[in-house]
Amino acid sequence: MSIQFQIDATRGSARLGTLITPHAVVETPIFMPVGTLGSVKGVPQDLLEELRVQILLGNTYHLYLRPGVETVRRLGGLHGFMAWDRAILTDSGGFQVFSLNELRKVTEEGVTFRSHLDGSSHFFSPESSMEAQIGLGADIIMAFDECTEFPADRERMRTSMEMTARWAERSKEYFEEHKNEVPWKTVSSFEFQVSSGGADARNSKPETRNLDRTQSLFGIVQGGMDLELRKESALRTVEIGFPGYAIGGLSVGEPREVTREVVEATLEYLPADQPRYLMGVGTPEEIATYAGMGVDMMDCVLPTRAARHGLLFTSEGKVSIKQARYAADPGPLDPACGCRVCRRYSRAYLRHLYAANEVLAQVLNTVHNLSFYLDTMRRVRHSIRLGEGTRSPSGVSSQPKP
Ligand SMILES: [Zn+2]
Repeated sequence: MSIQFQIDATRGSARLGTLITPHAVVETPIFMPVGTLGSVKGVPQDLLEELRVQILLGNTYHLYLRPGVETVRRLGGLHGFMAWDRAILTDSGGFQVFSLNELRKVTEEGVTFRSHLDGSSHFFSPESSMEAQIGLGADIIMAFDECTEFPADRERMRTSMEMTARWAERSKEYFEEHKNEVPWKTVSSFEFQVSSGGADARNSKPETRNLDRTQSLFGIVQGGMDLELRKESALRTVEIGFPGYAIGGLSVGEPREVTREVVEATLEYLPADQPRYLMGVGTPEEIATYAGMGVDMMDCVLPTRAARHGLLFTSEGKVSIKQARYAADPGPLDPACGCRVCRRYSRAYLRHLYAANEVLAQVLNTVHNLSFYLDTMRRVRHSIRLGEGTRSPSGVSSQPKP
């Protein structure tokens, strides 16, 4: 096995776990910041380390187009290229091909698409997505799937889900044959220490484990918003057999209650002892809710993208820092936040930086939002460990500030 997952405590459906990857021990439930092009926009890697980020997400579609997989591979994979020695997960490229390309052509073989950068023609298949993701060398990579658009009729959802299942088999087959080509594989196994009570535990004895130093491939459940198709997709994907499973195709424009319903219905059919990854969600409240339902891993561009637009998540609700009401506000952005931005700067200064279009505004806003998301998940993990409910951990709110 190239990853290990252990559940250290449960509370209702929520699980506190330890995910051991070749590059980091990750405490779950975890929020993974998105580093689309090998960079979490505006935040240097040493600051991500200070924020105690253990795992980052990279986007295969973007890295494949620029700088190109071969360049990254020759420089030691994403870990070497971006000087990040903790864990990385890459998506399959499928979601971006579907969301950024109106001229794509989908066949059983794969997807032909045009680069959003220069209009050049490219082709992704399960095999070429695996080849790209092996070259990028993330710890966890994703099966190539078709993200069904919303809304879609049932026939379309079924056809799409069935193709995703066939693509999952092809992804796994290619991955199993080529996984040893990962660019950072320099030893056949590695040792690390983990406390037997999980990475959070202070008093338990460390133990040494051995893992194969290779990547892991996760399967993805699709099926649109149809609960029966979701069940079938989950069962078929689990039958193919992966070390972890993702729920894909959500947050594509459907109402939030529907997202929640699909997540709940899908989780039921995923193995309880393996990591479950919900792709591309959500607000701080939502990620706490999904963790409470038994999701272990999540990612979302919301904290980083919103930060660049001056929208900040705080314990008192959402703050739109561009508003004139903050122009002379001497207080910290979030009095309950211990991040380096809230400890040092006033709302008035942050508002000024944003209004003056200073690069520093994007950096500071992103650092705070990421810190808020990571703290939210820390509180969730803490409440599971203490045996409290996790549906509404104190201090998590994304309602507009009154
Ligand atoms: Zn802060």
